[in-house]
Amino acid sequence: MDRPLRIALLGGGQLGRMFIENALRYDVEVHVLDPDAACPCAWLAHRFVQGAFNDRDTVMRFAADADVIGIEIEHVSVEALELLERQGKVVVPAANTLRTIQDKGLQKEFYVKHGIPTPAYARIERAAQVDTFPQLLPGFLKTTTGGYDGKGVQPVTGTADIPDDFNGPYILEKQVAIAKELAVIAVRGSDGRTAAYDPVEMVFNPELNLVDHLLAPARCEPEVIEEAKALAMQVAGAFGGTGIYAVEMFLTTDGALLVNETAPRAHNSGHYTIEACPSSQFDQLLRAYMQWPIGDVRMHGLAAMVNLVGEGGSGTPRLEGTDNILGRPATFIHLYGKAKTRTGRKMGHVTVIASKEEEIDESVAAIKAHGKVVPMNRMEPVKHQRQ
Ligand code: ADP
Repeated sequence: MDRPLRIALLGGGQLGRMFIENALRYDVEVHVLDPDAACPCAWLAHRFVQGAFNDRDTVMRFAADADVIGIEIEHVSVEALELLERQGKVVVPAANTLRTIQDKGLQKEFYVKHGIPTPAYARIERAAQVDTFPQLLPGFLKTTTGGYDGKGVQPVTGTADIPDDFNGPYILEKQVAIAKELAVIAVRGSDGRTAAYDPVEMVFNPELNLVDHLLAPARCEPEVIEEAKALAMQVAGAFGGTGIYAVEMFLTTDGALLVNETAPRAHNSGHYTIEACPSSQFDQLLRAYMQWPIGDVRMHGLAAMVNLVGEGGSGTPRLEGTDNILGRPATFIHLYGKAKTRTGRKMGHVTVIASKEEEIDESVAAIKAHGKVVPMNRMEPVKHQRQ
């Protein structure tokens, strides 16, 4: 081949942007497909194509001259990925993995078939069937396709709780008593070797139902940490393909670990690996695409990550609190380059590294207090005078 290896990425959001940031260290070309001409990757990619990544023909045209096809979002055309695999291109994750993961019903079936612990559930077509499964109530009704960031998930005690516009098919899952929500990123190399990063503990913002901040490693007993890593590697092994697998788990109040869902791609819960580990989740992906050995997942120190979520309405984004955040030791701001902010939108994140839990907690509190992404047109805070 007389040109650099060409990676075609489906999706041009922040995950793609952070992938490109690392990929720039190597001689690879990254081409990006996204419907939004102002997406975070648009001006960073070697080639940007505006188009629908869930449309088979658009993806086929886009990836025709690529060597590797990767994703940064799950809602892409699996049919196109299957065809591209048949053409002999490297597709990460494997098309059949994505087919299973795109449908929460198939995903749950997969866990059961492979002996992977997961909350009890049933597949149902219509909301009226909820009352026929009293053993699963109270529970969570989840649409099998199309959900993300808590959309498509409804807590239920019976059929009466279900909004009219919440359409099936669904899975009904028994509510489990959660002590902590954990996520573990497992890596599987093209040679079949697997590794897992330390589990992270996700702390949710109850109003927005988005991760508010996360702690790495999770503050759990060492046995739980090891068990969570083994479980994530079991999931990666069961799917069997090269790539990275972000495995979300519940640690129950009686100490069990249950897999909630898996994302076969880079994940919000793995952003801390950029600064805290020799090989980040984005570096692992590149290694997977290039069929290179997997990278070193060990952490140096403790880390926390705070999502910078838009507040105060919509408009051109402005980050408040930069001086305060950057004035702290080992603190790293990432902004995603989104043209517009709106309330609840992920606009960036801040990672902090420290050697003691108290330092981490202090930094998280300070970042949350000062770091705010607001629309530009909001009143400017009074700036202190420089002498
Ligand atoms: P999404 O795919 O949109 O992220 P999830 O399936 O992760 O949806 O559910 C969103 C949140 O709902 C979880 O993070 C958890 O807090 C809660 N949840 C989901 N399923 C259960 C369950 N079986 N028991 C208790 N809480 C649950």
